[in-house]
Amino acid sequence: MGKVVVGAAVICAATVCAAAALIVRHRMRCSGRWARAMAILREFEEKCATPIGKLRQVADAMTVEMHAGLASEGGSKLKMLISYVDNLPTGNERGLFYALDLGGTNFRVLRVQLGGKDGRVVNQEFAEVSIPPHLMTGGSEELFDYIAAELAKFVKTEGEDFHLSPGRQRELGFTFSFPVRQLSITSGTLIKWTKGFSIEDVVGQDVVLELTKALEKQGLDMRVAALVNDTIGTLAGGRYLNNDVIAAVILGTGTNAAYVECANAIPKWHGLLPKSGEMVINMEWGNFRSSHLPITEYDHALDVESLNPGEQIFEKIISGMYLGDIVRRVLLSMAEEAAFFGDTVPPQLKVPFILRTPDMSAMHHDTSPDLKVVGNKLKDILGIPNTSLKTRKAVVELCNIVATRGARLSAAGILGILKKLGRDVVKEGEKQRTVLAMDGGLYEHYTEFRVCLESTLKELLGEEVSANVSVEHSNDGSGIGAALLAASHSQYLEVEDS
Ligand code: ADP
Ligand code: MG
Repeated sequence: MGKVVVGAAVICAATVCAAAALIVRHRMRCSGRWARAMAILREFEEKCATPIGKLRQVADAMTVEMHAGLASEGGSKLKMLISYVDNLPTGNERGLFYALDLGGTNFRVLRVQLGGKDGRVVNQEFAEVSIPPHLMTGGSEELFDYIAAELAKFVKTEGEDFHLSPGRQRELGFTFSFPVRQLSITSGTLIKWTKGFSIEDVVGQDVVLELTKALEKQGLDMRVAALVNDTIGTLAGGRYLNNDVIAAVILGTGTNAAYVECANAIPKWHGLLPKSGEMVINMEWGNFRSSHLPITEYDHALDVESLNPGEQIFEKIISGMYLGDIVRRVLLSMAEEAAFFGDTVPPQLKVPFILRTPDMSAMHHDTSPDLKVVGNKLKDILGIPNTSLKTRKAVVELCNIVATRGARLSAAGILGILKKLGRDVVKEGEKQRTVLAMDGGLYEHYTEFRVCLESTLKELLGEEVSANVSVEHSNDGSGIGAALLAASHSQYLEVEDS
């Protein structure tokens, strides 16, 4: 009996030892994995680094490309398109104006009653209408008929608070946020659809003409007075409220910038100098690229697998459409090469764009002690349950790396614009204020991104210059901006002037 007991005890001790050895080995394997995962994260972080010297190089490259794009057609990746907006609103505009904002799955119609310098925006109303998906890929006539019909309905609801001067036609600002080759302030041909639209028979057509035909069919006597995009609308909306606004930047699903250029600084401008001596330039800055941009293998893969490889490189590292997917790609590599989420790679992690930027932003802003939001997002979106706090912290760190790079590069791009305008320095004896109008969901909702962008711009400009430079959120300036541009390019302007 005694022997058996002793034998059992020996076996037990051996089992305990073996189990302990197994745990030690497991821990070693885990720490090996962890070290490898962290090595991937650190290497990514290094490649994303944006020290101030690099940001200055990016800003300089932006300035150089701006000059090149202005000098000749196709002279740069930056298209530097002439917008034909040579008359930004001043605040003196009067009358009733409409706007139509088309650039995504919703469009907005809007009317404003402007009361001049003192009255300003006396009254404003808008309606938002979603576009039935089948119209986004159907024929142009159906789409424009639908839009015109909705606009006609909206015009019918015009109440007593709005007054059209007798004998006048209603005028409309048309914000059309797709790539357009502008021919005048009231005409432009569609270069290509983006954002899920695909209506072949509009490409190459004048979108103002298409809209005008549809408006006529509705029996609506309305003239399109200005064709612009969201960035130019934002610039106009910002300028109306603050005369020191000289540029607008959109950071949303995509990104773009527009600014006010001195007309004689545009060599490719073959027409007459505009009255005001100013011209708004639509930079299409999402297409900027430079050897100074910190681009990693993950960005390269994202670009290659995208719908527009080789294009919109700046946009692909700073805008809302892509930031979440960059995070996903790095996590996938950590999972595949270092078993970051355990022995099997979570299949959801392989699905492109499954991790959206708003989810990334929610994880990045998680302040709960156990990073509950991160845990839930990993579980709900990527199907990864029971993550440790250590793992969650690493995910937050990754979000921070991607957002920081995007925000700092955006600031560098803005510095490039300020340099082009000579507003990156304090001029002797001049108290010139500079205001940038900003809009877009990324800027508006991703607080860490916004704060980092603004502090980086300060860092780049230095204390003295930044005291005169400010960034203002131009909330939904693009819609009202188009109405204001219809006013400042109204056919009745001459009549009023005389
Ligand atoms: P668009 O650029 O299509 O006109 P918006 O300016 O409304 O759209 O921006 C929408 C984009 O903003 C989304 O695609 C997303 O990338 C980003 N976004 C929206 N909400 C958030 C959020 N909470 N955190 C981070 N990014 C957000
Ligand atoms: Mg928008």
